[in-house]
Amino acid sequence: MIDPEKIPSQVRMCSACPKMCRHVCPTFFAWRSDSPTPHGRALLIHQEIKGTRQLDERGIEVLYQCLECAHCLTWCLPEIDIAEIVEHRRTELVKEGRHPAGLTSLVANVVEHHNPFGEAHNARSDWIEVSPKKGKRIAYFTGCTSAYREKEIVESTVKLLDSLGFDIVIPDEWCCGSPLLRTGFIDEALEQARHNVEVLNSLDVEEIVTTCPGCYRVLKQDYASHGLKLNSQVSHLSEFLETKIKDLKTARIEGKVTYHDPCHLGRHMDVYDAPRNVIQKVTGRKVVEMERHADNAMCCGNGAGMRLLFPEKAKAIGNERIRQAMDVGADMVVTACPFCRNMLASQSGDEIRVLDLPELVSLTLEDE
Ligand code: SF4
Ligand code: SF4
Repeated sequence: MIDPEKIPSQVRMCSACPKMCRHVCPTFFAWRSDSPTPHGRALLIHQEIKGTRQLDERGIEVLYQCLECAHCLTWCLPEIDIAEIVEHRRTELVKEGRHPAGLTSLVANVVEHHNPFGEAHNARSDWIEVSPKKGKRIAYFTGCTSAYREKEIVESTVKLLDSLGFDIVIPDEWCCGSPLLRTGFIDEALEQARHNVEVLNSLDVEEIVTTCPGCYRVLKQDYASHGLKLNSQVSHLSEFLETKIKDLKTARIEGKVTYHDPCHLGRHMDVYDAPRNVIQKVTGRKVVEMERHADNAMCCGNGAGMRLLFPEKAKAIGNERIRQAMDVGADMVVTACPFCRNMLASQSGDEIRVLDLPELVSLTLEDE
């Protein structure tokens, strides 16, 4: 978490910068305007701190146009973390009751139903079938998007872990809190977090596995930074599968396969090699890299409330990412995030196939 005392000097420096990072900001790409850029956001906060300009409705909108993708940070020599600064200001805006009205239903849904979609809580996991096994006992934290909207991810993960002999427990999880933390609703997020920590710590499991990088980051980092301690190690499925790479088979997969790095897995959690190594094992060849990859990967457009508040701009960013995959002649984009999968698949048309990592690895089971 950012030290609030450092914010005034950081936004001052950023607002005087020649904007070295602007060209990688996906919201600059989407709006083609200087306001929705790292520099533009810093300038708004700097002017507010100095008292030369108050943050008006348009300024609040600009702060909520940030994807918190952290791409600007990779280009910033003084290492100013605009995503953290924006998130901190959003938290204050929520306390002031000045957040965008478009977020109200999201928050109400999570508080009442424990998922952002307003779906019934018991429909979250009542369809997931696991069978007891003798192997290592692991909890699979599915996350809301996979449980309700990207069920293929859950189905293929369960099938895969089951085939590897793991004893899978599906916990009575609530939303991890990521959409609330990223948009500034800390109190509501921590209510979800406390439930999850209590449930996960009551389970007799050796490890907690997630397929959603948003859940992964929150369970592994944010809970701890808010004093909530999980007793078991948390791993993203890509890391977990990498430790079992000898047990994975190779499938018959035609064409060029590229990999889209999810921001929360890559830039935020520094996991770049594990998914690539798993893809290489399963396809039998190296990933064909897009020009922008690893810490220079473009965001898919589906983060930090963007698709909810500005759906057309979010889709334009997702569409551009698909174009970048087509530029290297890819026939398939593999990612490791239900949000990225959802966005990229919605923009891919018939020209390119989009799969999440467990779906790709499950293809090895079909060949058996
Ligand atoms: S985030 Fe860093 S590189 Fe980008 S405008 Fe601000 S100071 Fe410059
Ligand atoms: S975090 Fe991403 S969307 Fe936000 S200012 Fe930086 S590059 Fe732009």
